[in-house]
Amino acid sequence: MNIHEYQAKEILCGYGIPVPRGRVALTSDQVERAAKEMGGRCVVKAQIYAGGRGKAGGVKVVQTPEQAQELAKELFARKLVTPQTSPEGLRVRRILIEEAVEISREFYLSITLDRESSCYCLIASAEGGMDIEEVARSAPHRIHMLSIDPFTGLRPYQARRIALAMGLGGTLCEDCVELLLNLYRCALEKDCFLVEINPLVVTRAGWLMAMDAKITFDDNAIFRHREYPDMLDYSQLDPLEITAGKYDLSYIKLEGDVGCMVNGAGLAMATLDVLNEFGARPANFLDVGGGATREKVAEAFRIILQDADVRGVFVNIFGGIMQCDVIAAGIIEAAAGVGCPLPIVVRMDGSRVEEGKAMLLESGLNIQVGENLGDAAARIVAMLK
Ligand code: ADP
Ligand code: MG
Repeated sequence: MNIHEYQAKEILCGYGIPVPRGRVALTSDQVERAAKEMGGRCVVKAQIYAGGRGKAGGVKVVQTPEQAQELAKELFARKLVTPQTSPEGLRVRRILIEEAVEISREFYLSITLDRESSCYCLIASAEGGMDIEEVARSAPHRIHMLSIDPFTGLRPYQARRIALAMGLGGTLCEDCVELLLNLYRCALEKDCFLVEINPLVVTRAGWLMAMDAKITFDDNAIFRHREYPDMLDYSQLDPLEITAGKYDLSYIKLEGDVGCMVNGAGLAMATLDVLNEFGARPANFLDVGGGATREKVAEAFRIILQDADVRGVFVNIFGGIMQCDVIAAGIIEAAAGVGCPLPIVVRMDGSRVEEGKAMLLESGLNIQVGENLGDAAARIVAMLK
């Protein structure tokens, strides 16, 4: 789960990490008032669930409250497209107004869960502010990484080694050690999948400060934090993703025209590959998980049909825990319920597969059943022609 920069900064502030003075605004009039409060000259920052805003015009320094208001009107009126958003971009519903800080150096800093080592990993670089992926490609030796042992936690000597590698000496080094220890505590206590400060800066006045902040909470731990769901900004999510979330289904929007219902993430990936190989382009995929019920399958099917880009539906299910006739019943219930006119191709295998196939073929819907994955992929391509 993602949150906005201003929310992430509030959390960091609670851990004693210095952030610029700022105020979040919902209208251009509020932006003007907040800019006045900052003394006129300030930074206007569009709040969206994506980075790369600076290069896309979503972060700008203005000199007067009037300029801040003008810019806010423009940002509220359009969608912001950055290298991290879809080509459509994201609506801006909240704007952060911050004091304009004089920066002398920028660093990259993050703590993220490393699934391979099952540990938090601290990543730091003196090459901050810009594209960290580019630094990783062209100058990997400039990125410092530390795997944090969960039993000992981050030790001050380890944090000091990182701070020194970032080129910080004297009191700045000690400030950085304290900041790193606080950041680790934050990641742990708030169950973060990622806490990223890019850039962490040294100000002209000689202080460390988090100039940007990104926090992603670990979805598996949200139940431990009652306040998290209220922090969501629904304007940043695909409405179908929200519906899917309610039914505990994973829905991912893609750019083609074939809606895909699959059980299991691995099978989903394989299905997308095979469809691509046969020249079909997936519009989305919806993973109904291992033990879906008939109701869940029906809901998943309805979600796929609501995607306006979908011209045909491809179902690839392995009936292991699930039984194929239950899946068939769910598909028929949903497709018949909304009077689905679109072509549907089903490939299923596993428990009670013959019963499932027979139900589909007798349903009177525009359904074909594939012999195997390749045959099914060829059928959906042919039906869409
Ligand atoms: P993004 O990562 O989405 O591009 P940032 O918050 O990192 O957005 O802002 C982009 C750049 O703008 C930063 O690298 C920093 O140089 C500058 N910046 C951001 N906030 C401030 C601020 N309050 N004062 C001065 N410069 C800022
Ligand atoms: Mg940034």
